[in-house]
Amino acid sequence: MNLKHKKIIGIFIIFFAVVFLSACQPSNSGSSTNEENLQVTVSILPQAYFVERIAGDLVDVNVMVGPGEEAHTYEPKPEQMKSLTQSQILFTIGLEYENIWVPRFEDINPSLKIIDSAKGIQRIPLSSDHAHEDEEEGHDDEDSEEGLDPHVWLSPDNGRVIAENILNALSELAPQHADEFQENFDNLVEDIEEVDLRIETTLSDLAGQKFMVFHPAWGYFARQYNLEEIAVQVGGQEPSASELAALIQIAKKENIKVIFVQPTFSTANAEAIAREINAQVAVVDPLAEDWLANLEAAAKAFATALND
Ligand SMILES: [Zn+2]
Repeated sequence: MNLKHKKIIGIFIIFFAVVFLSACQPSNSGSSTNEENLQVTVSILPQAYFVERIAGDLVDVNVMVGPGEEAHTYEPKPEQMKSLTQSQILFTIGLEYENIWVPRFEDINPSLKIIDSAKGIQRIPLSSDHAHEDEEEGHDDEDSEEGLDPHVWLSPDNGRVIAENILNALSELAPQHADEFQENFDNLVEDIEEVDLRIETTLSDLAGQKFMVFHPAWGYFARQYNLEEIAVQVGGQEPSASELAALIQIAKKENIKVIFVQPTFSTANAEAIAREINAQVAVVDPLAEDWLANLEAAAKAFATALND
C-alpha cells in the first residue's frame, strides 16, 4: 500500500467518523421529542410559514387566527389562552386584537417574549379611491393607526423583513441552533427571490393598472409591483349605497373584469357590483398558510383579470 492509498483510506475514516458522530449527536444530547421543541405562538398562518421554514422540526407553532377565521375581528379562545402559557415567544404582526390582548398574555405568562415580526416595515395608508375621498362623514378615523394598512405580510419585500425578524428572535432563543436557522433562512430568501422575479415577469406589462378587491388586503403587493388596488370596503366597513354606486361607476370606467373576494367575508356587495358591470367574482386568500405559493397564485389571478 503506497502513501497515496493510505491517505485516501485516512480521509474515508475521518469522513465516516464525522458522519457517524453527527448522526449520533441528537440522540446523545437528549431525545428531541416535542416537549423539547421551541414553543412559538403567531397571530396568523403566514407567520407560521416563516417560523416553520426557519426552525423546521425544532419548533411547535401555535396559530391564534385559525383557518377560515376573520383576522380583524378575531378574539382568542380560552383553550388558546392555555396553550399560550406554554409559549416562549409570541410573534405579533399588528392585528387589531393584539392591542388589547397582548398585555393580558403577558399577565398570564410573564416570561413570554413579545416580538414584533413586522418591525422595520413602514406601514402605508389603506387603499382608498375617488368613491371614498369625497365622503366627509362616516369613515374618517381619528386614530392614525386605523388608517394604516395592517396587511404587511402580503409582499415579497416585506416577507424578507418578517423572516429576518423571526430568524433573529429564534436564534437568540436557541443559539445552539443558530447556524441551522441561518441556513434555512438563506434558502427561504432564495426562494422568495425566485418567486419575486417570476411575479415581476407575470405582471411586467401591467404597470399602473387597477384591480378591484372587496377587502383592501393587497396594498403592499400592489405597491411592490406598480399596480393599484381599488377596494369595495371602506376602512373595514361595507360601502354605503352611494359609495356602492360610485364604485360601480369607477369599475365601469376602469374596465374592471374581476372583483376579488376572500374566503372570510360575505361576497354580497362584490357580487352586486359584478352583476352591474358584468364582471366575475374570484377568490384570493390573504391568509393562506403557504405564503410564498399564495403570492404567486395571487399574481397569476391578478394578471389573468388584467389581461382579459
Ligand atoms: Zn384584512
